[in-house]
Amino acid sequence: MKEILLCKYGEIVLKGANRRYFEDQLCKTLRHRAKSFGNFEITRSQSTIVIEPLDDFADMDGMFECTSKVFGLVGISRAAVCEKSMESIEATVREYIPQFLEGKKTFKVEAKRSDKRFPLNSVEISAEMGGVILSMMPKIRVNVREPEIVVHVEVREFGAYVHAGQFKGAGGMPVGTNGKALLLLSGGIDSPVAGYMIAKRGVCIDAVHFESFPYTSERAREKVFELARLVSQYAGTIRLHVVSLTHIQEELVKNCEEDYFTLLLRRYMMAIADRIARETGCGGLITGESLGQVASQTMQALGVTDPMASLPVFRPCIGLDKEEIVQIARRINTFETSIQPYEDCCTVFTPKHPRTRPDLGKVIEQQKRLDFDALVEEAYSTKTEEYIVPEF
Ligand code: ATP
Ligand code: MG
Repeated sequence: MKEILLCKYGEIVLKGANRRYFEDQLCKTLRHRAKSFGNFEITRSQSTIVIEPLDDFADMDGMFECTSKVFGLVGISRAAVCEKSMESIEATVREYIPQFLEGKKTFKVEAKRSDKRFPLNSVEISAEMGGVILSMMPKIRVNVREPEIVVHVEVREFGAYVHAGQFKGAGGMPVGTNGKALLLLSGGIDSPVAGYMIAKRGVCIDAVHFESFPYTSERAREKVFELARLVSQYAGTIRLHVVSLTHIQEELVKNCEEDYFTLLLRRYMMAIADRIARETGCGGLITGESLGQVASQTMQALGVTDPMASLPVFRPCIGLDKEEIVQIARRINTFETSIQPYEDCCTVFTPKHPRTRPDLGKVIEQQKRLDFDALVEEAYSTKTEEYIVPEF
């Protein structure tokens, strides 16, 4: 039996002139992803995107799994395709639908007929197929108000689809419809989640990771690449920049008061990230900061690092508790990688008593002990980059 995927997208964003653009972007993403799973045809029809395998080798399970990570889709159904006749629809309902009704108590059939020449109308199709299901599964009951499961029969121009049970899509807006931003990606739990959350709003993601070799290891870097790969399954290809902060950190340790190390380092990070973002056409920065989580994330500390960015800084985790961030990390499958215990440049040379209520004047005074611009320039010159392509 031939199966296809029917993908529904949200209605609100579709209104007006945006609709076409939104749909094009969605189809582009799906076509791109489909390449990993074989030959598929992707078409639009009546507010639905139809993904159809073109031969028996196409990997439907893989495609389904990957489609559930595409932003902009609110629901995905696997559907059986059949000929546009009542005999064929009935045979398909008999063969395909019982697996979805297993263990369920109530159902209803909802038929739709876009081909008005079809001999039965939608109410008649629903009634007939409801009868077929009841005769096959005597324990299940019809409940039109609150059914546990809805069996759909759709009679379209070129054939009919039968499906039951819609899986939740990733929601949000198609990546690419809302600009591009640069994610400051550490190896921690929060920043991959932050990247995911902003990508969900339709934003393309690039990333920068700061390392401090040899104080941070090759393994720590590998972990960050792995996190970028996991986020890219949602966000699409990520251009990942890696910048060395080794020299800056050594200079800070030699010349500045220990209490200010972290704040000063974060000011350098922001300044370098802002420069990369502007040079690569990003319209904003993204961090995984959450208010009050650590010393460098108090309101005053954020007030000290924020001015280093000329672009808006998005902090989608700002109001989330750690537990809430962890929940998202688990759902998007970054958690297990994030908790691998490798050092981050922020955790080497950490002060024993970091300032939680820093005074901007004092921080600037400390910063003046070094040639800020020259150190930024030098760190920038260590930048390497790699494109992280989603693998499924
Ligand atoms: P995370 O779990 O994302 O590492 P965190 O709670 O450990 O966050 P910090 O280490 O203070 O907090 O970092 C705050 C934010 O600064 C991170 O979410 C990330 O956006 C950015 N950041 C920290 N370290 C790095 C790094 N080595 N490279 C790039 N960005 C970083
Ligand atoms: Mg961290």
